[in-house]
Amino acid sequence: MNYNDDKINMTHGAGGEVMQDMISNVILSNITKTSVNGGIGLEQLDDSATIPLYDDHVVVTTIDSHTVQPLFFPGGDIGRISAAGTLNDISVMGVKPLSLNNAMVISEGFNKADFEKIIKSMDETCQEVGAAIITGDTKVIDKDKLDGMIITTAGIGIGKKENIVSDAGLNEGDKIILTGSIGDHGMAIMSQREGFGYETDLLSDVAPVWSMVEAAQSKGKITAMKDPTRGGIANALNEMSDKSGFGLYLDEDKIPIKPAVHAVSEMLGIDPYEVANEGKIVMGVEPDNAEAMLEAIKNTKYGANAQIIGEVTKDKYVLMETSFGGERIIEPPIADPVPRVC
Ligand code: MG
Repeated sequence: MNYNDDKINMTHGAGGEVMQDMISNVILSNITKTSVNGGIGLEQLDDSATIPLYDDHVVVTTIDSHTVQPLFFPGGDIGRISAAGTLNDISVMGVKPLSLNNAMVISEGFNKADFEKIIKSMDETCQEVGAAIITGDTKVIDKDKLDGMIITTAGIGIGKKENIVSDAGLNEGDKIILTGSIGDHGMAIMSQREGFGYETDLLSDVAPVWSMVEAAQSKGKITAMKDPTRGGIANALNEMSDKSGFGLYLDEDKIPIKPAVHAVSEMLGIDPYEVANEGKIVMGVEPDNAEAMLEAIKNTKYGANAQIIGEVTKDKYVLMETSFGGERIIEPPIADPVPRVC
């Protein structure tokens, strides 16, 4: 890694504070028009942007590049993650994803059978939410310039304005729901890279989250939501707290962590709170309907282990009551500790 101040290094793409600084100081400060029709735009740094139309509808759109290594990992592959990642950024705006645009840069010499597996995997993931892949682009470049493949997907959803959920809308007293165990994706990638032999029981959670959003919305109001990808729940919860101006109080005993994730994180000294998830949501919900919303999420394919993990406070910190009865501040990570995780 190169820490020369004049050069971009790996942490600039790692979903933490260093990346946020570059986005503010280099990207936002040099782009003139950053939103359309008063919608959510680049400045808000939300999961997707919105373009309000001239009736009660809104277009939701997002784009994401996927550079995950290895391309095939326990529980998924670059095809599944490049579909789910973008479908999920649309979904956490409260709107059903309709379609993907898919641009692939492939290195010369790439195995055709693997390529087909990746396309099929994208398709299967889209089928889970009924989304279409409607346009795309394919480029091949010299094999010494790229190790495998980069996939960029853009997504579109169309919904009603009243259903849009930003990541900034938490209110004091809201309950926080986490839809399952944390760290599975990042730790599955790390255990495969490090050859730990956890491959068989530790799988990435990569999956489309739409069914859980839909279930929750059928029972009550979601006030704010994110998918905790790079930087993990530590990053997502701090962003939601910062943007709303409220704090969070969490209960460590309610945050599910699989024993294998715990084991790998101890061995590598990596905090599972700071590691990417690819099939989870953290959401704030109105307290009166929180239990009903939790039950609805638990009845979906990927939500069985959902929990209410805490609530929104007047404070400004993300605080957690630990299993031992103490308190710990959950800080936003400087960068996701796992490079090329998505
Ligand atoms: Mg996101």
